[in-house]
Amino acid sequence: MKIAVSAVQGAFIEHEKMLESLGAEVIELRKKEDLEQPFDGLVLPGGESTVQGKLLEELGMFSYLKEKVQGGMPVLATCAGLILLAQELSNDSKRYFQTLPVTVRRNAYGRQLGSFYCEEEIKGIGKYPMEFIRAPYIESVSDGVDVLAKVDGQIVAVQYKNQLGMSFHPELTQDTRIHQKFLDMF
Ligand code: GLN
Repeated sequence: MKIAVSAVQGAFIEHEKMLESLGAEVIELRKKEDLEQPFDGLVLPGGESTVQGKLLEELGMFSYLKEKVQGGMPVLATCAGLILLAQELSNDSKRYFQTLPVTVRRNAYGRQLGSFYCEEEIKGIGKYPMEFIRAPYIESVSDGVDVLAKVDGQIVAVQYKNQLGMSFHPELTQDTRIHQKFLDMF
């Protein structure tokens, strides 16, 4: 299993370590030529969605990756990655991949409350440690989107077909169950 991790910006190394600890092979996507290697799945990490979206476009990787996700390639998207996948953003005029039929609110917890930790149930997984950093949440979902977790009534994790999106950072904890769930999608 070869997983490509978008490495243009953000917390990609933590994803790589976690995936490798679970036995996956990892490659980094930093430039267009990196797309020449075959890979089976994609990770879009946390960081700054505006920067990542701009860089993926400028580096010539955006359309290729969008096609892969649309074509059914499993993708794990965390925080900024979730923003990149969202069909709609309620408080931003930009749009990116638009492959995940949900509406996402950026920086939804405000700047003061931007970072916090909690533990909540994830459907099919159980209680899970959740690290939020200037996180978005999901305001609404279309039919067919499976809501996996909520915190204080707000949706923070979803699955839609091949796409797993979450507001928090599973790669910043020691808990590998989200990454395992992702690898089980193959
Ligand atoms: N606030 C960031 C954004 O809008 C996301 C934060 C994160 O990925 N930790 O892109």
